[in-house]
Amino acid sequence: MSVKLYDAIVVGAGYAGAVAARRLAEDGGAKVLVLERRRHVGGNAYDCPDDAGVLIHQYGPHIFHTNDRRVFDYLSRFTKWRRYQHCVIANLPRDNPEVVPAGKTTDGRFFFPVPFNLDSMKAAFGEKEGARLGQKLLDAYPAQSQVTILELRQNPDPEIAAIADYVYEHVFVHYTMKQWGQTPEEIDPATTARVPVRLSDDPRYFLDAYQGMPLNGYTPMFEKMLDHPNIEVRLGTEALTKLTAVGDGPLLFNDVPFEGPIIYTGQADELFNFCFGPLPYRTLDFQFETLAQDCFQPRGTVNYTVDEPYTRITEFKHLTGQALPGVTTVMKEYSRAYTGAKGEIPYYAIINPENNALYAKYRAMADRYPNLYLLGRLAEYKYYNMDAITAKALELTDRLLEKK
Ligand code: FAD
Ligand code: UDP
Repeated sequence: MSVKLYDAIVVGAGYAGAVAARRLAEDGGAKVLVLERRRHVGGNAYDCPDDAGVLIHQYGPHIFHTNDRRVFDYLSRFTKWRRYQHCVIANLPRDNPEVVPAGKTTDGRFFFPVPFNLDSMKAAFGEKEGARLGQKLLDAYPAQSQVTILELRQNPDPEIAAIADYVYEHVFVHYTMKQWGQTPEEIDPATTARVPVRLSDDPRYFLDAYQGMPLNGYTPMFEKMLDHPNIEVRLGTEALTKLTAVGDGPLLFNDVPFEGPIIYTGQADELFNFCFGPLPYRTLDFQFETLAQDCFQPRGTVNYTVDEPYTRITEFKHLTGQALPGVTTVMKEYSRAYTGAKGEIPYYAIINPENNALYAKYRAMADRYPNLYLLGRLAEYKYYNMDAITAKALELTDRLLEKK
């Protein structure tokens, strides 16, 4: 097939690739070829029914949330939404099983909302003392609706320092060690800042203006986005056997220089054959279990913030609202270092100055190719949510469409 059949090539059919392809095809009239190595679209947001018919998220729980109206409107062209506000609770052992905390308890364990909020405070310290300490926090941060754990730990007041120690120990340090193999101080501060201490009793995980789940799932939304006469999607297709970077000229596609834009949403290090060394990532192992019961846990996600080897359990029916009596599927997440072994997926970039400097070398390499655009959570080595990467794809294609 001749290369000239296409005006643009997109590598990857996740958010970055799908949004970019649709825009170039629809708004730019470009013939777009999308190459995706997996046998499905949607990237890590892919969902599908499991053997029991439960709609699951194959690569971890995905909840859509954004404050960006443009992003919400754009995606809303391809899906209707189910109203859903994600709530998470921590499940942890009682410090002293003799003392029954005010929170919900069972079998020597108790629960409180995460992000840690004024109700969590009462669960942890008892109704009266929790209310008093909550008021103390409100007085200490009168102009804020939330405070990060690292900020709270800087507070010199001994009682607030004790609250900070409690939250650090019961919410952050063990979970973060499981997730990253490092303490909250050692990782990028923006990571723990995603889950602040809330100075209210709002139990929601996200406070964004627009939140929800695609009504029929993520995969149908992606299928609709990519369903355009100018888009050809090739699944199960490894792009790096077709794209070659030589010299400073355009990339070669099937050994022929390709002059149109190439939007690459895979790993930057892999694109250049790891020439500066591999970029570090964390990967996850997911353990799915289908149970013969209506419901397993009280919220969509329960974080095990102190013990257990996994970080969290998600029960998908809460997220999707699927009515399926007598059966439910839950998933445990185990985090570990990414080794690059076959089949492992690099889920999280490990953001720190050293890794950012390594990434910058790959970025500089990419910049030598005028028609190559690195876009996405992998290609940009960033901790992007779905809305952020949608926004980036809209911005990049704005620029490309202007150039035309
Ligand atoms: P990806 O989804 O990774 O897509 C990249 C695609 O490119 C993949 O399909 C890959 O197979 C393909 N590809 C790569 N290299 C090649 C190649 N050489 N040839 C062909 N194809 C290639 N965000 C939220 O907003 N809310 C959430 O609740 C949320 N939960 C998450 C939970 C987990 C466990 C994880 C890991 C992420 C979560 N995210 C969430 C983030 C979300 O997954 C990302 O923002 C989003 O998927 C990024 O899209 P992307 O297109 O950049 O990358
Ligand atoms: N975190 C934590 N305890 C929790 C929830 C989050 O320590 O109960 C920290 C942890 O370091 C985690 C980070 O906050 O990696 C961001 O959490 P988030 O839920 O946003 O992570 P994601 O859903 O992206 O895995």
